[in-house]
Amino acid sequence: MKDGFYLKNRLDNLRLLMASRGITALWVRQDENRRYLSGFTGDSGQLLITTTSQYILTDGRFTEQARLEAPGFEVVDLGNRPREQLAGALFAAGVTELYFEAEHLSYAAYEEFLKQARDWPRPVDLKPVKGLVEQLRQVKDEGEIRLLQKAIDLADAGFHHLLRILRPGIRERDIALELEYFLGKQGSSGPSFTTIIAGGPRAALPHGVASGRVLQPGDLVVMDFGAVYEGYHSDLTRTVALAPVDPEWRRIYNIVLEAREKAIAAIRPGLTGREADAVAREHIAAAGYGPYFSHGLGHGVGLAVHEDPVLSSRGEVKLAAGMVVTVEPGIYLPGRGGIRIEDIVLVEEGGARVLSRAPREFIEL
Ligand code: ZN
Ligand code: ZN
Repeated sequence: MKDGFYLKNRLDNLRLLMASRGITALWVRQDENRRYLSGFTGDSGQLLITTTSQYILTDGRFTEQARLEAPGFEVVDLGNRPREQLAGALFAAGVTELYFEAEHLSYAAYEEFLKQARDWPRPVDLKPVKGLVEQLRQVKDEGEIRLLQKAIDLADAGFHHLLRILRPGIRERDIALELEYFLGKQGSSGPSFTTIIAGGPRAALPHGVASGRVLQPGDLVVMDFGAVYEGYHSDLTRTVALAPVDPEWRRIYNIVLEAREKAIAAIRPGLTGREADAVAREHIAAAGYGPYFSHGLGHGVGLAVHEDPVLSSRGEVKLAAGMVVTVEPGIYLPGRGGIRIEDIVLVEEGGARVLSRAPREFIEL
C-alpha cells in the first residue's frame, strides 16, 4: 500500500472526527500531529485543515520539502510576513471559526493571534480543542505498524549487541554510547529517548539514565532504550545479571515476567488501560512486592515514544484493535537494585500480539 493511501485515510478520519465535534477548521501545530497528517517531516510548520482543503504553512527552508513530501497539501511560504500569510490562508479557506490544539499553542502565540486578528476585515473566532489528532494516532494503520516493527527489530538487535559488550568493569555511559552507535549503524535515526543503563543500586531508579558508574560483579543491569525508524519509536527494556547474583533476584525476575505474561494474556479490545495495569499490579502485590512497582504498566508508542493510551491507574481509554502499547512491569528495591521487562504489543481482535522478540529469560553473564 502506498503511503499516500494512509495519509488520505488519516485526513478522512480526521474530518469525520471534526464533523462529529462541529469543527470546520483545525490549526495543527504539534510536530508529530503535523507529520502524521501530512507526511511532511520538516522541523517547522503548521497545518490548516478545513472540511475541503488542507494547507502547510512553513518557511523558505522547508517549502520545497513540503511540496515533495505532502503533495496533497497546498504549501504556503510564510516568508517574513507570517501573520499576513496565515490570515491569507484563513480567508482563502473561508474560515470563520478556527480550532487550535489547546495543549500545543503557547499563551504568547494565542495572545499574538488575537492581537493580529483584531485588524482583519473579517473576524475569525479562535477556539480550543484537546487531543483530536492524538485520539486518531492511538490506532495505528498498517503503514505505521510496518514502520514500528522496523524500529522494534532494531531495538531487538541492539539487545543482542548489549549481550556482547556487557561485563563488569565497563561504565554505564560507555555501554549507552556503544549501543547508540550500533543502532545508528543499523539504520536508527537516533535514540528513541535518553538511554537508560542502570546497574547495581542504580537499577532501583526506574529512569536511571546511563551514568559514569562502573558495572560490578553481582549487579543487575536495567537497560531501557529504543530506536527511531522513519519517525516511529521503539521502547525495549531488559534486565541482565552480572554473576554472581543474589538468588532473591532470580525469584523477583520471575514475578515480573509472570506479571508481564498475565497482562499480555488479558489485553484485548475493550479492556481499559487501568484494568490492564491492575492485572500486573495484583500479581506483583500478591507476591509481596506491591509497593515496589512504582510506575504505570505501559503507554502507547508511535511517532512519539510516550503517547496515548496510558496503561496505568489513570487509563480510562478502552483498548482497541490497532493500538500499540508497551507492557513494562518492574520491581525496584531502594538501595539494592531493580528489574523491569518491557515489550511492545499490538492489540488485535481477540488479544495482543507481542512485537518485540529480544530474549526475555533470566540471563546471568
Ligand atoms: Zn522503556
Ligand atoms: Zn516505555
